[in-house]
Amino acid sequence: MPVTLALCKQRLPLPELLARLGLFDAPPRSGNHPCPIHSERNGSAFSMQHTRGVWLWICHGKCAAGGDEISFLEHFGSLSRRNAIHRYQELCGFSPRNGFHPNPIATHRKPAATQVPHPMIDFPNPLTAGSFSDCEQVANLRSVPTSTITAMSKEGLLAFGNVCGLPSWLVLDGSRKLAEARRMDGERYPCAKSLGERKTHTLRGSQKNWPLGLREGTAPILLVEGSGDFVAAHYFCSFTKRSATPWQPVAMLGASVKTLHPDAIPLLSGRRVRIVPHADEAGAKAGLQWAKLLGSLQCQVDGFDLSRLTKNDGSPVSDLNDCTTLLPGQEPELTQLFL
Ligand SMILES: [Zn+2]
Repeated sequence: MPVTLALCKQRLPLPELLARLGLFDAPPRSGNHPCPIHSERNGSAFSMQHTRGVWLWICHGKCAAGGDEISFLEHFGSLSRRNAIHRYQELCGFSPRNGFHPNPIATHRKPAATQVPHPMIDFPNPLTAGSFSDCEQVANLRSVPTSTITAMSKEGLLAFGNVCGLPSWLVLDGSRKLAEARRMDGERYPCAKSLGERKTHTLRGSQKNWPLGLREGTAPILLVEGSGDFVAAHYFCSFTKRSATPWQPVAMLGASVKTLHPDAIPLLSGRRVRIVPHADEAGAKAGLQWAKLLGSLQCQVDGFDLSRLTKNDGSPVSDLNDCTTLLPGQEPELTQLFL
């Protein structure tokens, strides 16, 4: 059954589309607003109008462009018109999966302009599930039991291979949207291509606005920052696996994510999400930003404050990974993480 665009426009008119993409807290009214396409902060270059039953937008500023919902997605996501239509139909709930769209168009999207720099580091070849000793090495690096790492490897959330010629471990998921590598020896990667020295490499094709590990379901989500906390979240959430409410660990691999990947929106809408930000200023800022994005998707959002916890060496906890080496006696505080 062909899905007419008119039906889509009824279901998800421009103001709702903008809110659904997390670009506005609530569906914006007609009139002038900061342009979400060229990430305008305080301006009003983006004008919206509802005339004769149709929504139209125009950016009088940098974009110098305008049109309907589909052309918005074309400009916002750097999509071809064909892919923008497909994306719009998906956002309206007509996806290949639910049978409304029997001939899905391959969606190889260019990342949106906000996602630069484009990752240039290639995936390892071969990419393996790793030996027991590989898993043990990562477990020691992250201060978690080896069983956490082997379980993640089995689930396809962790893999091994050479990145920039160096033995590395990767976090990834079945979505093929995001993968990040770290060195097996815990050292930093040397300069490569135009990139400086760094602790992690985001691999080619990655889109940082994808919440890593996000799956369909109703389990409450434990949302953390970075690959280290992703591993720690798996360790802590594993205790809830057999309970009535098993938690699903999900990570944002970057504090500066301002919009969510469109494919994440239907999977997140209405879910319960507990954010565990890093206990520093940048972490708190990121946590608030994500809470805002999730709030616009009708998620039930709350946060867990790590700053009152202390490590067993007496230093303050700065992230969830630090909680794997807590000062004895503080464990009861941490059990509140899953209440
Ligand atoms: Zn603009």
